[in-house]
Amino acid sequence: MAELKLTDIRKSFGSLEVLHGIDLEIRGGEFVVFVGPSGCGKSTLLRLIAGLEDISGGTLEFDGQVVNHKSPAERGIAMVFQSYALYPHMTVYDNMAFGMKLGGGGKAEIEKRVRQAAEILQITPYLDRLPKQLSGGQRQRVAIGRAIVRDPRVFLFDEPLSNLDAALRVQTRIEIARLKERMADTTMIYVTHDQVEAMTLADRIVVLRAGYVEQVGTPMELYHTPANLFVAQFIGSPS
Ligand code: ADP
Ligand code: MG
Repeated sequence: MAELKLTDIRKSFGSLEVLHGIDLEIRGGEFVVFVGPSGCGKSTLLRLIAGLEDISGGTLEFDGQVVNHKSPAERGIAMVFQSYALYPHMTVYDNMAFGMKLGGGGKAEIEKRVRQAAEILQITPYLDRLPKQLSGGQRQRVAIGRAIVRDPRVFLFDEPLSNLDAALRVQTRIEIARLKERMADTTMIYVTHDQVEAMTLADRIVVLRAGYVEQVGTPMELYHTPANLFVAQFIGSPS
């Protein structure tokens, strides 16, 4: 059974429909990448899955349960955004522990999870620093760490690398690949408009265009048998 099942998902803003009936099934532990040009609806679809935006039509199921009206916390989802607003006055440790403290976790449990996440992300040496003492890439790792400590069952990333310079993007992409391996049981949905990120990270890619799904497949399937010229050009074009 699919962990996440989207059936005829629609989204309108006022009279403007931006998602026109999305059907998609995602298995537990999959790393799925949504790609498509700017404005095609990637972020909107992610926000609907997260519960940050109301669904206008269709059903969203988690493990066979309709969750259309459930809150993000009830869905067990954590999201990492492209702008990684950290609390400037808190150390890296406190930034990562903050969400768990709100959730009422015990001190020892919080410390264990923060240290585990820091180790996965290789930011243990920076736990006592303030965000302003870190590079952009390190800050982005802290933002990811903040999501990891909450132990979500689904992890959503919205263009987490788009504010980084080219060299840092490559480095952080490698780190996300490692995160994928280390958290192989966690379902991850990753949004990007960069096909290199999509091809290198994805178990399966969902190609979106103007609110429709054009094709779903493994990177190799899309590369070798694109459904149409749009997919072929998108997958084949340099970033
Ligand atoms: P992407 O992430 O692929 O660049 P978005 O999901 O952000 O695309 O946007 C898809 C479409 O929905 C765009 O036409 C955008 O202008 C529109 N849109 C997104 N959010 C809103 C909003 N809150 N109000 C009105 N229109 C929106
Ligand atoms: Mg977007």
